[in-house]
Amino acid sequence: MNVVNVALPVPLARTFDYFLPANTIIPAIGGRVLVTFGQRQAIGIVTAICYHSDVALNKLKPIIKVLDSVSLFSNSLWRILNWAIGYYHYPVGEVLFHALPVMLRQGKPAEIAPLWQWFATEQGLHTQLDSLLKRAPKQHYALTLLMRRPVYRHQVGELLLSAPALQALRVKGLCDLRPKKIDVRDWRPGFGINLKRMRLSTEQAKAVEAIRSTNDCFVTWLLAGVTGSGKTEVYLTVLEDILFQGKQALVLVPEIGLTPQITARFRERFNAPVEVLHSRLNDRQRLAVWLKARRGECAIVIGTRSALFTPFAQLGIIVIDEEHDSSYKQHEGWLYHARDLAVILARENNIPIILGSATPSLETIYNVQQKKYRQLTLSNRPGHTECVTRQLLDMKTLPMTKNGFLVPLIDKMSKHLQAGNQVMLFLNRRGFAPVLLCHECGWIAECQFCNHYYTLHQQYRKLRCHHCNNQRLLPYQCFQCGTTQLVAIGLGTEQLEAVLTPLFPDIPVTRIDRDTTAHFGAFENYLAQVQRGGARILIGTEMLVKGHDFPDVTLVTLLDVDGALFSSNFRATERFAQLYTQVAGYAGREGKKGEVLLQTHHPEHPFLQKLLHNNYMDFANQMLDERRQADLPPFTNHILFRADDRDNRQALLFLDQLCQLLDSSPLRDNNLWLMGPIPTLDHKRGGRFRWQLLLSHPSRSHLQRLIVVSLPLINNLSHASKVKWWLDVDPLDV
Ligand code: ADP
Ligand code: ZN
Ligand code: ZN
Repeated sequence: MNVVNVALPVPLARTFDYFLPANTIIPAIGGRVLVTFGQRQAIGIVTAICYHSDVALNKLKPIIKVLDSVSLFSNSLWRILNWAIGYYHYPVGEVLFHALPVMLRQGKPAEIAPLWQWFATEQGLHTQLDSLLKRAPKQHYALTLLMRRPVYRHQVGELLLSAPALQALRVKGLCDLRPKKIDVRDWRPGFGINLKRMRLSTEQAKAVEAIRSTNDCFVTWLLAGVTGSGKTEVYLTVLEDILFQGKQALVLVPEIGLTPQITARFRERFNAPVEVLHSRLNDRQRLAVWLKARRGECAIVIGTRSALFTPFAQLGIIVIDEEHDSSYKQHEGWLYHARDLAVILARENNIPIILGSATPSLETIYNVQQKKYRQLTLSNRPGHTECVTRQLLDMKTLPMTKNGFLVPLIDKMSKHLQAGNQVMLFLNRRGFAPVLLCHECGWIAECQFCNHYYTLHQQYRKLRCHHCNNQRLLPYQCFQCGTTQLVAIGLGTEQLEAVLTPLFPDIPVTRIDRDTTAHFGAFENYLAQVQRGGARILIGTEMLVKGHDFPDVTLVTLLDVDGALFSSNFRATERFAQLYTQVAGYAGREGKKGEVLLQTHHPEHPFLQKLLHNNYMDFANQMLDERRQADLPPFTNHILFRADDRDNRQALLFLDQLCQLLDSSPLRDNNLWLMGPIPTLDHKRGGRFRWQLLLSHPSRSHLQRLIVVSLPLINNLSHASKVKWWLDVDPLDV
């Protein structure tokens, strides 16, 4: 009898055995089946077919239905997912299901469903628009559009069409819906390159040649170059060759909404289908992209972290833009790192991978030093002359204005604005103020689910927790003593905008943060405003770190620097150096003279001194030396156990048990460091209390073996079932 091992989307590190009834088609490994699990039916993924089971054969339940006769995964994806299950110690079913589009997880067929389209009927095409629709402007607008071309149902919102108006037209027989089979054709035979290519600089040409020479084998390239140095141009040129050979490309970016231009550039350059996986796609559209890639019907897929799991008919190259970005690490559930998995995927496919960044991560620089990766550098910006001055502003000694600005800062701003240039103030803290405090008794408004202060948002008249998104109305009086003496402490971007506007009454102020850009299209509108030029004050948060082009910005000020100097996370300095380098890079493009200012209480701090007087790569090398001396990653390996509970007792007890267990393991050696258990930084979160235990060992394989051997024992610990616990391999936040 055939026994089928099936992975189910449950948090258990095992598969389940079912038998294959006679006369059933043999399912594919990597294909889906329908089975009973407990009282319900569930979709599972077949991981193996064999002839024996540890369960008595007459106790096995049957496979109810075979959904796929071929695997849903490409060979290389299947291999790296199975590798990742072992490396991240995450349940097999959850990993495999995570890698599939939602509709496939639900058991929908792996084929492209037709899209529905609104079109004008014969009658509609010959209607006198003005006479008929004078009183119904929305119908008028809709029919005018439909007379020109049909509109897909999912585009109705984007085109600002009204659904009731369309229905009304339909009732009148003027328009109707029809299913439209998606036009799929092989792009390869007619593939031509739009020769909009520019003449490459010597460095670019060298980079392109180097990468091209490895088109048929696995090499990890680090393409290091400041923003604007022409990295994207290198990707595009390298891709020409790949596409010309009929192969496909995967391009990962940190956040598509923040870099609308990159997609446009790929689309413009190639006469071949480019698919973009962005957050506004619905499940059906996601499945369509997935299927097109798998059938070889699209040439390029651009997407964020999870686009890594797109199956390709013939993948030829992977590009990871802004490889240092922490958004490549998944932050809940299966905590994989998309960049690291992408490198393994490239190895499995025997293809090159390009990691591009202006500020490469220390891990990647270390891998270059270890000769695992090869570095290419673009040091010049085309058409750019570097003339930027950098300066620290000492907040302890310099005079302040009434509303808390340093006088020299306001002076400099006036100077740059008078010259018709733009000024950027960088503050990574949205809202009006990070703390609301009672002046009488010292009470601070704190989220009741997290140990995190509420942020005050005047704009919404709300207090919001930036951890758990819980919000409440702005209180009129103190919850503790009842006075109305509530004061906002600290500065957020909303307040910054409010105080700057009267100081520079004639200058437009643009604030770009998550609150001002929540509407679809708002971000692009702001970018366009700023790019139109002229004197302007620009208030930016992390959203502006990704390389945009602001040719008129000549003064960049980082208002809050000190947080990074005294963070308990050892990666804080690396992150700040990356952020600083990217933001400072906005000053003085287009050959204008630029200035960068950093406000700090600690101008003598060695970190700031080094940062100011070195370029990023030199500085990164110094940071690496410090990591080596302190025995921190990438010179050692971390695995972090976390546990949480509701009463703030069990999690600590569990981690204590775990610590003892690891401490007495036969694999415990003198190189193993166990740190904790300690409360996490966000100790109370969503009503639960979190603790952590950090393991560190110079040998990755030894650490992995220790975990493999210990996991079954951990599950048997008496407190294991009383808490939620998980582990984070190569954690970013420790
Ligand atoms: P990055 O990806 O490193 O930020 P881009 O490739 O976007 O850099 O290039 C920045 C700008 O310089 C773009 O406007 C691009 O069109 C232009 N550019 C890139 N390479 C060249 C070149 N060889 N000659 C002229 N302009 C170039
Ligand atoms: Zn909260
Ligand atoms: Zn009070």
